[in-house]
Amino acid sequence: MAKITPMMEQYFAIKEQYKHCLLFFRLGDFYEMFFEDAVIASKELEITLTGKDWGQEERAPMCGVPFHSADGYIARLVEKGYHVAICEQVEDPKQAKGIVKREVIRVITPGTVLDHTVLDESKNNYIMSIFGGKNGYGLSVCDVSTGEFQTTEFPTILAASRILDEVARFSPAEVVCNEAFLEHPVAKDLKERFRIAFSDVDNRMFAYATAKDTLEHHFHVSSLDGFGLAKKEIAVSAAGGLLWYLLETQKNDLEHISVLKYYTIGDFMPLDVASRRNLELTETMREKNKKGSLLSVLDETKTAMGARTLRKWVEQPLLSAAEICKRLDAVEELKNDLFLREEIKDILRTMFDFERIMGRVVYQTANARELSMLKNSIENLPLLKRTLGRCKSGYLQEIYEKLDPLENIHDLIDQAIVEDPPFSVREGGMIKPGYSDELDTYTKAKTEGKAWIEQMEEEEREKTGIKNLKIRFNKVFGYYLEVTKSNLEDVPENYIRKQTLANCERFITPELNDLAELILGSEEKIVDLEYQLFTEIRNAVAAEVERIQLCAHIISVIDALQSLAEVAEKQNYTKPVVDEGDIIDIKEGRHPVVEKAMAGQFISNDTYLDSGDTRLAIITGPNMAGKSTYMRQTALIVLMAQIGSFVPASSAHIGVVDRIFTRVGASDDLSAGQSTFMVEMTEVANILHHATPKSLLILDEIGRGTSTFDGLSIAWAVLEYIADTKHVGAKTLFATHYHELTELEGKLAGVKNYCIAVQEQGEDIIFLRKIQRGGADHSYGVQVARLAGLPPKVIKRSNQILKQLNAADITKKAKKIAVESQEQQEETVQQVNMFNMGEMQLTEELKQLDVMAMTPIEALQK
Ligand code: ADP
Repeated sequence: MAKITPMMEQYFAIKEQYKHCLLFFRLGDFYEMFFEDAVIASKELEITLTGKDWGQEERAPMCGVPFHSADGYIARLVEKGYHVAICEQVEDPKQAKGIVKREVIRVITPGTVLDHTVLDESKNNYIMSIFGGKNGYGLSVCDVSTGEFQTTEFPTILAASRILDEVARFSPAEVVCNEAFLEHPVAKDLKERFRIAFSDVDNRMFAYATAKDTLEHHFHVSSLDGFGLAKKEIAVSAAGGLLWYLLETQKNDLEHISVLKYYTIGDFMPLDVASRRNLELTETMREKNKKGSLLSVLDETKTAMGARTLRKWVEQPLLSAAEICKRLDAVEELKNDLFLREEIKDILRTMFDFERIMGRVVYQTANARELSMLKNSIENLPLLKRTLGRCKSGYLQEIYEKLDPLENIHDLIDQAIVEDPPFSVREGGMIKPGYSDELDTYTKAKTEGKAWIEQMEEEEREKTGIKNLKIRFNKVFGYYLEVTKSNLEDVPENYIRKQTLANCERFITPELNDLAELILGSEEKIVDLEYQLFTEIRNAVAAEVERIQLCAHIISVIDALQSLAEVAEKQNYTKPVVDEGDIIDIKEGRHPVVEKAMAGQFISNDTYLDSGDTRLAIITGPNMAGKSTYMRQTALIVLMAQIGSFVPASSAHIGVVDRIFTRVGASDDLSAGQSTFMVEMTEVANILHHATPKSLLILDEIGRGTSTFDGLSIAWAVLEYIADTKHVGAKTLFATHYHELTELEGKLAGVKNYCIAVQEQGEDIIFLRKIQRGGADHSYGVQVARLAGLPPKVIKRSNQILKQLNAADITKKAKKIAVESQEQQEETVQQVNMFNMGEMQLTEELKQLDVMAMTPIEALQK
């Protein structure tokens, strides 16, 4: 085999370490890819595949992109799920002996992109690690662009649903995990159903001791107890493994990841994927975009940071009434004090996304323009602090106390960086005059060089008395003094002869040389020195990352609060009373999204649910009556209240719920190879297993996906199971087209019938959209079908068939089963009572025993 070129040898050595990546190999002004990488990249990026000689007979396949426009290409590859390793020249080619040294300086993966052209500024870009061990599961998430980093752990039995819930909450762009987790069925689900990119991490990095070491070393601490991680070995493993992966790929010290937060299952309301989707919290079911979602109604934020925080709030409702009320009080104050809100909004409008700018500052990729944006963003912090000083609610006061006006950071940038700095950091023009004496001298030399030369010329003429002495410039000698032959005797001794011409001689002096050097070198020196000063300032700002991040977080909270206040005002929402009680009492509630689309036409409705007689509402009414809208509206109002938002109602009393479950309509999970009915039943099973008496259930048309009798039977049994406090006992809205179920009112404890009113008008029906007590007596299916424009012939025939079917009435049978249900229920109650009585007797008997008077054998027998 012929010899491989030295550069290609270097390429192979590096590629060997980054087998799973597309290697961007820097060659002059291009990043080149070779062999398999080149074939993939040329196809994905639609760029030409060429070849390069590498000492072998056949040329190596090659393609490349210019380095100055590489970001866009990299982003496209990463979006498609590739990992891109950036290999740079790490020494000056001019000074290199032999082949230039090259190193991979960063690996960009879907979960670690920083390019703002790719990142959605209103969303976090999370990378998640999942660690499965014998004693439980750990899960950790990080947003590399903002530095947010948190971790948790939970027992193995909870793992499957917990992981799915957390994935739904964070929607990570990439998941790293240990080998054990890859065996878990959820791993397959995540890959196939959610299409999440999985990346390899060396298993050993999750080992507790190693993980702990990685974290302690990174955070410069000798124990993780301060992060609340004492005895949380699994959470530590998950976080340590993730951080190791980040350090390994980013090749940066990631100082902006400055805290690790431990959170627990109980901090936020878990919401499963189906419920999030059904309630259209952040995107609509059909178009998958934000417009038409709850978030789109609530989002009046002014900053990207605020938008991300509000999204998080919507994604993770709170569970503690105290925490919720804290937010609600702040929203109330901001809603009522218009001046306060306007002032805050004006200040927020001047702020850029400085949370993400800080990410780039720490990565040393931020330019002067971004530092200037950071400065402008924090310029008004002292004013904001003064404004917040007059707030009275606890949360806003707390924010006021915590808000650091960052004046020294502002001043540092302000003194150094010009108002409108250039994009490039390698061309000067960034640093203000007066910041550095040395730089000022060079700048002066550059601009005033000519005048200085003229001045020196004048001085030399005076000193020597040579009237026609001149200072001239040419490319060969640079600056020189020129004296005509006739004046040579006046030339002083310190002049050094350089050249003799026909009628004159040329000299230099050390002073002129110095001046020349100053003038000629100034351009280059300015560029170098400015870059050096700029990086010093950038490093100084980077050192303050913790303070700036905390500030960004506080700003994001203020923004989210003012957004909720603004919406409350505009949409005429009311402050809910939130407590730990068991009542949901909504007066004149509205659907926040539907009402916005209907401009004043929306008809409000009450909802009342408690843990006693009105636990389970069976809602009947024809299709199109408004059942789903009503049920979703109730769920959304409860959820909004638990976010800390005002709600669309005239009044609302919300006892905090631990979860909201929804089973609404057919979700399009057919891609995963499951039938609609199977999906429906899986979701119902999940609800029956996980709902508690504190949960809120929204069930729409359970059993619709199968034959009438199957469906009715399943719906019936599910309803009984939910109504039974021994099993579920959750507050439930249960819409159904099986009228037979209304027989259960009065027979099954906690069940009440409701229907949505319609008015018959001849052959037509009018939708009144009002919920009322009692069951609907007709389905009006044929009428609705007529409204939809089915041919008259079909309608007529439907009516005929309907009449005959009705004759074979199943209602009577249903009545009988309902009575049996009641009897069964009563029997169970009796059994429980008897058991309780027996237990009481036994306790009493045991209490009566005089143990001291018994022999051990007697005691044992007793
Ligand atoms: P169902 O679930 O009973 O079939 P939907 O809840 O889907 O009915 O409602 C059908 C349509 O009626 C919705 O698209 C909505 O536009 C309208 N609607 C529902 N509730 C109301 C209401 N309270 N006020 C005004 N229009 C409503």
